[in-house]
Amino acid sequence: MIKVSEALEILRGACAAGSTEMIALRESAGRVLARDVQSDVAWPPFDTSAMDGYAVILSDFAAGKGPVAERPGLVGAGAAPPAPLKKGEAVRIMTGAPVPGGTEAIVPVEKVLREEGAITALASPERGDHLRLRGESIQEGAVLLSRGRRLVPSDIALAALAGADPVHVYRRPRIAIAVTGNELVATTAKPGPGQLRDSNGPMLEALCRAHGAEATARLPVADEDDAVRRLFAREAADEDILVTSGGVSAGDLDLLPAEAQRSGFEILFHGVAIRPGKPVAFGRRGDKLWFGLPGNPVSTSVCFHVFVRLALDLLSGAEPAGPVFVSALLARPITIKGKRETYTDAVLSVADGTLRAKPMRSRGSHDLGAYASANALIRVPHGTETLAEGAVVDCLVLGDRL
Ligand code: AMP
Ligand code: MG
Repeated sequence: MIKVSEALEILRGACAAGSTEMIALRESAGRVLARDVQSDVAWPPFDTSAMDGYAVILSDFAAGKGPVAERPGLVGAGAAPPAPLKKGEAVRIMTGAPVPGGTEAIVPVEKVLREEGAITALASPERGDHLRLRGESIQEGAVLLSRGRRLVPSDIALAALAGADPVHVYRRPRIAIAVTGNELVATTAKPGPGQLRDSNGPMLEALCRAHGAEATARLPVADEDDAVRRLFAREAADEDILVTSGGVSAGDLDLLPAEAQRSGFEILFHGVAIRPGKPVAFGRRGDKLWFGLPGNPVSTSVCFHVFVRLALDLLSGAEPAGPVFVSALLARPITIKGKRETYTDAVLSVADGTLRAKPMRSRGSHDLGAYASANALIRVPHGTETLAEGAVVDCLVLGDRL
C-alpha cells in the first residue's frame, strides 16, 4: 500500500492538460486560461475625473484670490478631450470625463459656491485631488492574468477591459460516472428490503461540475462479471476519465480492479494509506483514466477531494492544481486509529479572530448525516496517533461549502 503523497505523485505523472478552445468571455467563469491575457490599453485609458466638479489650476485658488470664471458648457463622460485649461478658468466636468490638459485638481461640485458664471472653492484644493491618471492602475502591455488561472468574475472584468473576447481556455475535462452495486436503486425509487438509494452518483456529478468538469452518468452497474466487463469495454471517444463508485475493496463482489486490468487498464495504484478510502484505485488505458472510488459515501467524497480534484485541475491546466489547504487550530482533541493519513470531517469557523476546526462526531465512512454538516477535512499526517486541542492542523477546504 502506497502513501497518499506517492499516489499524488503518480497522478501528477499521469495527467496532462488537454486541448484548448476559444469561448465567449461572458461564458468563461470557472474556466482555465490557456494563454496569458495582456492589456492592449492603459487603465484608466486617459486622465479623468473621479468626481462631478470642476477641473482647476491650484494657483487660481490661493488665499486672497476672488472667484474663478467657469468655462461655458460641461465635459461629460464619453466627450472628446476638451481644450486645455487657461489660468483663471475652471471647467465643469463629470465623473469619468477626460480632463482638460493642465488640470491640477478636481474640486467636487459639493465643495464650491457657484454664482454668476464663476466659482469659489469652500476649501483650497490640493494637487491631484480627485484626479485619476492614465495608466495608474494598469499599463498598456501589462500581463493581467496568467495561463492556468481559473477565472472568477473580477478576472472577467479585467479580461473585458483588455479586450480578451473571445478568450482562450482549456477544454473542460469530460467525466463519465458509473455507480456499482446490486443494492442500489434510483433516487426516484423506494428501496426494497436490502436496497438503498444511489447517493454517490448524484454527488459525484455535482462534485465534477462544481470543479469545472463536464459530467455524464452511465447506467448503474451490477456486481456481475459481464456487467463490469461491459463497463470497461465501452469506450466513449470524448471521455477523459471514468469515475466509478464501489466494487474496489477486497470482498467477493468487488470485481472492478481485476476486470479493469483484464480490459487493458494499467493499474497505477490500488490501495492507498488513507482513511477513509483505502481501496481507492487508479488506472490508465491509452489516454483514458479510471478512478475506482470506494462506495461508502464519505470515502467517495474524500477520495474525490484528495485525488480526483487534482486530476481535474491537471487536465484543465489549472495552477496551482489540487485542493486548497488552510491552517486552523483544533477545537477538540482527536485520536487516530491506525497509521494511515486521515481525513476527518470538520466545521471550520472563525472564533476570536482565529480559524478553528471542530471535528464532527462521525460514526464512520457511511455517516453522511454528520458529513453533510462539514465544510472542511482535517488532514492528520501518516503515523500521528493523537492531536491535542489547540494543535495547528491543515484543513482541506470543501470548496463547494465555504
Ligand atoms: P463497496 O465499496 O461497493 O464495498 O460499498 C461500500 C458501502 O458503500 C456499501 O455499504 C454500499 O452499500 C455503499 N454504497 C456503494 N455504492 C453506493 C452508492 N452509489 N450510494 C450510496 N451508497 C453506496
Ligand atoms: Mg459494492
